[in-house]
Amino acid sequence: MKVSHNQNIRNVAIIAHVDHGKTTLVDCLLRQSGIFRDNEVVQERVMDSNDLERERGITILAKNTAVTYKNIKINIVDTPGHADFGGEVERALSMVDGVLLVVDAFEGPMPQTKFVLRKALEANLHPIVVVNKADRADARPHEVIDEVFDLFLELGASDEQLDFPIIYASAREGWARKEIEDTNTNMEPLFEAIINHIQPPACIQDGPFQMLVANLEYDNYLGKYAVGRIKRGIISQGENIAVIKHDGTVEKGKVAKLFIYSGLKRIEVTRAEAGDIIAVAGLTEVNIGETLADANHPEQLPVITVDEPTLTMT
Ligand code: GDP
Repeated sequence: MKVSHNQNIRNVAIIAHVDHGKTTLVDCLLRQSGIFRDNEVVQERVMDSNDLERERGITILAKNTAVTYKNIKINIVDTPGHADFGGEVERALSMVDGVLLVVDAFEGPMPQTKFVLRKALEANLHPIVVVNKADRADARPHEVIDEVFDLFLELGASDEQLDFPIIYASAREGWARKEIEDTNTNMEPLFEAIINHIQPPACIQDGPFQMLVANLEYDNYLGKYAVGRIKRGIISQGENIAVIKHDGTVEKGKVAKLFIYSGLKRIEVTRAEAGDIIAVAGLTEVNIGETLADANHPEQLPVITVDEPTLTMT
């Protein structure tokens, strides 16, 4: 079976010290998402969870966000910056091929920047450095870049990781620039950096479905959702599926509902393909680190190994 890259998708994690502007930046990308499109994408869309919320008066909140740029879907995975329990950061990073390292243009790298960057570098991911709040009167972007570079060196970054693209941004004002002197007024340079510097997800389009459960989400509508990136094949709503436990035993399950991410929501779809990040509802007994697989070809994926939980923020 041939490994290929799903050119229609990029999966990226966002890393930032608290208050450096992660939320504002994602909001800004969402607001400008879809503006720069080549032509309309027709999504196999069943129902937006917005409609569901209106219908049932419930809240459906997703951890992941997805935006589109030139018909490429960018899944943005949040990473907790604080103390890491049970490998939450590693699991988030296991779904992506690159990271956005957001650093305040005045404050520079801070403990949480270092904490998560270390894990991203260890996972061989290539960061794009976003110097945010470049609009601040007290911004010192050149020094901040030097500090970021020193931090990469200290953390043992490879030559390729050290060759990081830099984007200066004001998430608050909605612009991103490749040079400080630049006068660009939208986020296009950041979208371009994402699609050009982050590899499309490596996956196997043909072959029996396979996915590692990297995370769980919950809501009061469908209960538990198994979240992960599809490694191989396609998955369809209503399909019978194998849930492979840590010890290799196989349990039977059924894909009651299937979701992809769009904007801040999960959107129900009838099928999803390798490379995309999805949420599967209907598997009540599923746990993190287990494999979901084609019922007729239950092959287990390697479990993500995690060091002892780190409780400090050095
Ligand atoms: P998070 O904790 O990383 O999610 O940070 P937020 O997005 O909540 O931002 C923290 C604070 O920084 C808020 O008061 C934002 O309005 C402010 N902020 C975010 N981006 C910018 C920016 O580009 N420029 C300036 N001046 N302030 C910003």
